[in-house]
Amino acid sequence: MSFKPANEIQDLQYFGEFGGVNPSISDSSTYTFLSAKTMFDTFEGNADGCYLYSRHSTPSNLYLGEALAAMEGTETANVAASGMGAITPTLLQLCQNDDHIVSSRTIYGGTYAFLKNFAPRLGITTSFVDITNLGVIEAAITANTKVLYCESVSNPLLEIADIAALSKIAKKHNLKLVVDNTFSPLSISPIKHGADVVIHSLTKFINGSSDTVGGVVCGTQEFINELRNVNDGASMLLGPTMDSLRAASVLKNLRTLHIRMQQHSHNALYLAQEFEALGLRTVYPGLTSHPSHEVFKSLMNDKYGFGGMLTIDVGSLDKANALMELMQERNLGYLAVSLGFYKTLFSAPGTSTSSEIPEDEQAAMGLTDGLIRFSIGLDADIERTFEMMRDCMEEVGVLEMAV
Ligand SMILES: *Cc1c(COP(=O)(O)O)cnc(C)c1O
Repeated sequence: MSFKPANEIQDLQYFGEFGGVNPSISDSSTYTFLSAKTMFDTFEGNADGCYLYSRHSTPSNLYLGEALAAMEGTETANVAASGMGAITPTLLQLCQNDDHIVSSRTIYGGTYAFLKNFAPRLGITTSFVDITNLGVIEAAITANTKVLYCESVSNPLLEIADIAALSKIAKKHNLKLVVDNTFSPLSISPIKHGADVVIHSLTKFINGSSDTVGGVVCGTQEFINELRNVNDGASMLLGPTMDSLRAASVLKNLRTLHIRMQQHSHNALYLAQEFEALGLRTVYPGLTSHPSHEVFKSLMNDKYGFGGMLTIDVGSLDKANALMELMQERNLGYLAVSLGFYKTLFSAPGTSTSSEIPEDEQAAMGLTDGLIRFSIGLDADIERTFEMMRDCMEEVGVLEMAV
């Protein structure tokens, strides 16, 4: 793989209105027209480069969208107020009453809840499948299926979707392959393996400072135009618009994403190897023990590693809670949901981010009570972090049960 996403971002050059090194922020909800005719043409979608109203597009949102499209290798992109504000309009644009979706069963809790509980109200149904089992996926496809949906690296179980293989199935059955790439920006470029639409929650690694929510849909010009269409575009009509001030700040954070991802991956690989050596059940795509280690390797771009997310299973919820509380007390990270922060974040997915998934289904997919999900931070001295974490594990009795 020769794709170099960070170069694509760096090669874009925007100046501010007065030669500023950052683009000027557009601080307006509406825009004047010199002629009434141009206003009419813009409504009809025939006046390129003209801004109409900020729910449709703004200069600041376009700058951020173009940078993210460059990173993902798509024609263009549309930013949104949150990751869910990118996911739900995409699915509602691609599907209507009576349509069907085949989705990975291990996905973000909010996406799962939308597909399971909300989309059926609009006549859109979903079959949830084990995304690593291609036979099961193909068997779930019906005449009404329109979308194959997955996360490149799944939340929270860190299963890897074989995007190249899924894309072959999608093409054969004329489906759109939609990939949520939130856990693996830069490391995996789904478009290069045949995905049709790539989505991110910008809230996580891309913004990286846990100060805002945001999202993006990267795709063809045709699809993004459909989302923004004033008559029937889901993004335009449902209104999950990012504010321009926020778009400008996310764009500045995107500038350091390549450095941060390298450090997140370096630290996570180190800890995963050490945790595994202690005998803990550790899941990290960079470990050779991970069932999809080779699939990840076949998909990954050079340099950015296997990402910042790992899980360990400490046997029970009580032990998980005791360990997380002690690690927080020792300032090793925060007991918090979300990911991609400079500080390590940890949570027990079964009782937090995946609590939307019923208990019996959690059990079926291997989401156990004692599971702790870590988003590993940018720690400068990961050896010291490990030693302090190991002390915490000893104190709460987690290592006794390790094999
Ligand atoms: C957080 C997250 C989302 C939702 O994004 P928000 O910005 O919280 O709306 C979607 N997918 C994945 C994989 C996530 O981690």
